[in-house]
Amino acid sequence: MSAPPPRPSRPRLVDPELAARVPGLRRVAVVSLTVGALSAVLVVVQAVALAHVVSRSLLQHAPLGAVVPAIVVVGLAVLARAALHGAGDLSAHGAAARVVARLRGQLLRHALTLGPAWLAGERPGELSLTATRGLRSLHTYFARYLPQAAAAAVIPAVLLVWVATQDWLSFAVAIALVIAVPLTMVYFGREATRRSERQWRRLGSLAGRFLQLIDGLPTLRAFVREAQGRREVAAATEGVRTATMRTLRVAFLSALAMDMIAGFGVGFVAMVLGLRLLWGELSLQTAMAVLLVAPEIFIPLRRAGAEFHASTEGQAAAARVLEVLGTPMPSGTAPDGSGPPVPARPAVGTLAMDAVRVEYEHRGRPALVSFSLQVDPGARVALTGPSGSGKSTVLSTLLRFVEPDAGTLSIGGRTSAEQTAAEWRSHFSWLPQRPHLFNATMADNLRLGAPDAPDDDLLAVLGAVGLSELMANLAGGLQTPLGHDGLTLSSGERQRVALARALLCPAPILLLDEPTASLDPPTVTRLAPALEPWLGGRTVVVAAHEPVLLPRFDTVVALPGAAAVPLAVSP
Ligand code: ADP
Repeated sequence: MSAPPPRPSRPRLVDPELAARVPGLRRVAVVSLTVGALSAVLVVVQAVALAHVVSRSLLQHAPLGAVVPAIVVVGLAVLARAALHGAGDLSAHGAAARVVARLRGQLLRHALTLGPAWLAGERPGELSLTATRGLRSLHTYFARYLPQAAAAAVIPAVLLVWVATQDWLSFAVAIALVIAVPLTMVYFGREATRRSERQWRRLGSLAGRFLQLIDGLPTLRAFVREAQGRREVAAATEGVRTATMRTLRVAFLSALAMDMIAGFGVGFVAMVLGLRLLWGELSLQTAMAVLLVAPEIFIPLRRAGAEFHASTEGQAAAARVLEVLGTPMPSGTAPDGSGPPVPARPAVGTLAMDAVRVEYEHRGRPALVSFSLQVDPGARVALTGPSGSGKSTVLSTLLRFVEPDAGTLSIGGRTSAEQTAAEWRSHFSWLPQRPHLFNATMADNLRLGAPDAPDDDLLAVLGAVGLSELMANLAGGLQTPLGHDGLTLSSGERQRVALARALLCPAPILLLDEPTASLDPPTVTRLAPALEPWLGGRTVVVAAHEPVLLPRFDTVVALPGAAAVPLAVSP
């Protein structure tokens, strides 16, 4: 459960790890290089033809008819360049959209597979920012910066080779300034990457704090501490502003430096050409063609510099995506979304935990040490113990949200390592300690684990958990929206809706974590017999301070702390 080391900040054309994850990326680079090389050839053709037209018309006073073919060549070259750019842009945008969609899918699958235990240590606001705005910025990087960077790599090289064949002095001047570009880019690129990574972290922190403020608003208001929440968000906003201004400063300075290099480059080349024309060492046609080509040597370099700064946010987001994807998955876990949903199996063998040890990061002592448990099909087990003794950890381990540091899990003799996470979890239905209700209707919330359950079953299970009266008061019946996290319900009602959802799911093993925490004792007493028909022959494991809720438990397992509790349970 240890975090991977932070990725170093360095400017890079294509991160090799990113390229390995998204194969489409290499194609973007290859297409862009080809488009760049063809554009460079067309620039030369256009410049030579134009210089020919000017030289023939001005010096030799040739009639219009004599230069028409050259004018046509200029026109065709312009059209061909436009078509090439259009095709290159289309291909880059299409590939970028595919690459980003693929990365977003990988990120979500990985985050979901890592599960609640990993998510508990993350900031949800920051993660959703990465999956949305971050990956959108990455689109800019793939669709605009990458093609421009490829153009900057190939166009100046081709044009310089041609200039060298025409006039070695212009070549010497141009190459001296072109060499200054990578040096400048390395300096500003490193600065920009570092600063935009910081900006991205600050943005993530702001998103996290904002979400926390919204979620915690009732608590903050109750303690009259909204002002503190507001101050924290204001401080985070100020942090983002400062980081953004610093990033922009680097971008502007870099643009200034690039413009100066390009300006000097074209100016010096023009001066050299003028002198050589004066000395009679060059023809007007050659001098003009070289002069027309000279700015085109610097244009891709300037554009690549500008796009680099526009895409640094995307690169920072990519670094974060790779960090999440680099978090090792629990062993034997296939991504959750990798296969068709696994239907719940009606019967299972003995559920066993053998010498399981769970140690959380940043915790002095392990939550479970050499914990063993055997539950035969149909058995009802209560896990009791003081708060913090590891009851929820046992359930999280059974659900494979937490990867044990030692020991094995098995159902009917098949270990968890032999099954995908989805296959393994199809054995379980779960009522978490803090159940989440989705911002959807009552029916949608109940059908989470039983998508095909008819309305009658929903009403019956709601009756079993004592919510008939609530249903009678809901104007929209089962179609009533429950609001964000079921906030339109009392905590006892939310817990019972979540219990109804868990009972409705046809999985053979029911894991109930503190199912009576928000219920008063008379309600619990009333519930017990009504639940019975919904339990059938299912295996039930209840984590609670007191073994209540069910009329009988076959076994009560007391968790004194992180001690070994070897046990075998039969119905
Ligand atoms: P219980 O359900 O009996 O109250 P838990 O299983 O929730 O106990 O917790 C057992 C111990 O593990 C506690 O000390 C708790 O602080 C710690 N713990 C639980 N979940 C995490 C987590 N995600 N990260 C770090 N420590 C945790």
